[in-house]
Parts: sequence; structure tokens; C-alpha cells
Amino acid sequence: MNPIFQAVVSAMIRLKRTCPECKKDQIVSTMKRKATVCCKYCGADMLRRS
Ligand SMILES: [Zn+2]
Repeated sequence: MNPIFQAVVSAMIRLKRTCPECKKDQIVSTMKRKATVCCKYCGADMLRRS
């Protein structure tokens, strides 16, 4: 696989979070990576992955 493409994909996977309420996956922006964000579908808090 192209190493640049691979880096982009792995970065997106790291930013992906699954909502605990509605179980939808979404990408969290890099700036909010370390913060608790709200699910854009149901508004539930999604805690940072440990
Ligand atoms: Zn949700």
C-alpha cells in the first residue's frame, strides 16, 4: 500500500469514535481529539478513548 495513503488512513482510524448511545461512527477533528465531544447524531457525550 502507498505509505502516504496508509498514514492518512491510520490517522483517520485514530480519530474515529463510536457513540456509546447510537453506536454510530464519526470522525473527531484533531483539535477536539483530547476533549469530550458530542455525538453529531444524538448529542450524547463521547468520552475520549483511553
Ligand atoms: Zn450518538
